[in-house]
Amino acid sequence: MAASTAQIVAHWVEHEVEMTVDWSTAHERCWRCGYRTRLEKCHIVPVALGGSDAADNLVLLCARCRREAPSHEDPRYMWRWLRATGVSSPDSTYWTMRGWEEFEVIFGRKPLEVFREAEVDHRSLNAECRALAADEFAKTVSHFGEGRLNPSTIACVIAEIEKKLADRHGITLP
Ligand SMILES: [Zn+2]
Repeated sequence: MAASTAQIVAHWVEHEVEMTVDWSTAHERCWRCGYRTRLEKCHIVPVALGGSDAADNLVLLCARCRREAPSHEDPRYMWRWLRATGVSSPDSTYWTMRGWEEFEVIFGRKPLEVFREAEVDHRSLNAECRALAADEFAKTVSHFGEGRLNPSTIACVIAEIEKKLADRHGITLP
């Protein structure tokens, strides 16, 4: 039987690995993105490569981070990845940031850049974005079991907000 969540946390606290997540919340927050969500046990060395179900071969990740985690016979890559991409802030905006990056990939420009170039006051722009966001988020749905929007969906929301702002300010989007 695989080690329990408590055993996994206890094992790594004892081994004092350098981590971004706060150990007091490591049983309820993803060790990578920091969100409080349902955690999955993720093998450091995959079972198919001889990894065990013991606490020393498991970390706790949300479903999305688990899909992005390295699957390699050398356990050092898992820790290196966690340290390089993990965030410590409890109210992490990690996935929102990923949505902004995804927007850039999809649309080939930075979100809201056209408005900054047109010198729309940034404070009123932020306020308008916040006001529009609730309606736009209502048009989306998170994938089953995830509870949060994925980066490409967040990028769509940003695109919709941009369209409304463009109409309002008489700006043509590229
Ligand atoms: Zn996560």
